[in-house]
Amino acid sequence: MVPGGVFMFNLILKVREEILNEKPISYEDALMLTKATAVEIPYLAATANEVRQKFVGGHIESCALSNIKSGNCSEDCKFCAQSGHYKTDSPVYSQISVEDMVSQAKSAEAMGATEFCLVSSGWGATHEKDFTAILEAVRRIKAETGIFVDCSLGFLTGEQMQQLKEAGLYRNNHNLEASKDYFEKVCTTHTYAQRLKHAQMTRHYGIHPCTGGIFGMGESPKDRIDLAFELKKLGADCVPLNILNPRRGTPLGDVEMLKPLEIIKYIAIYR
Ligand code: SF4
Repeated sequence: MVPGGVFMFNLILKVREEILNEKPISYEDALMLTKATAVEIPYLAATANEVRQKFVGGHIESCALSNIKSGNCSEDCKFCAQSGHYKTDSPVYSQISVEDMVSQAKSAEAMGATEFCLVSSGWGATHEKDFTAILEAVRRIKAETGIFVDCSLGFLTGEQMQQLKEAGLYRNNHNLEASKDYFEKVCTTHTYAQRLKHAQMTRHYGIHPCTGGIFGMGESPKDRIDLAFELKKLGADCVPLNILNPRRGTPLGDVEMLKPLEIIKYIAIYR
């Protein structure tokens, strides 16, 4: 059967019935949905919205991010303007002060954010002085605001995760970025297995895992569905779907940005 037209509408209807009756979508059906055309995508999106209403209602979390340290990263992620391997116009600065982190969290809360995430460039929290300052910032943000405090600090040790948990960390972000097959095309300085292991470790320390990926790096529809099913296995309770905004100077600086309908299609399938 060729996907499209009546076939696609029937497939969306079938998947809708199954999911609303708590039967998970199959890999094959998810892959077939990637063939939805511009005419079918609005119906797919409306169906995904019904699923969202049933399982999570109208609750929205709004997460504000602070890039507490920028640039000069040892890793070579081809999409990232902060990698030290590429010449980009991204700002380069060392870790901002605890006072600045706390004051930014307060501003974010005043603007309606429900979470505040401390994001740092680099392999991980390898400088003890910087990590101690982050722990202090997490403690203070938790004590002085009503906002949840999250972080995205690269690779952490078990001991660091434990310390962050004790300081009051709510979520730890560590994205898989791409499917297992595609990841080695966008990064060579660390492996998919390392990312996966680190993402799995988060829950072990009682911290909520936040793990997603990036669309628009030249990956195939199958890569996107493979990533979705890997994330499903992980059980992350927050799945950030990033859309590449190509940055000049990076190896992916010239790729074409995804069209809005294409983005909506994948958000709907992921839901
Ligand atoms: S590890 Fe993070 S900061 Fe470093 S290049 Fe990769 S995405 Fe950028």
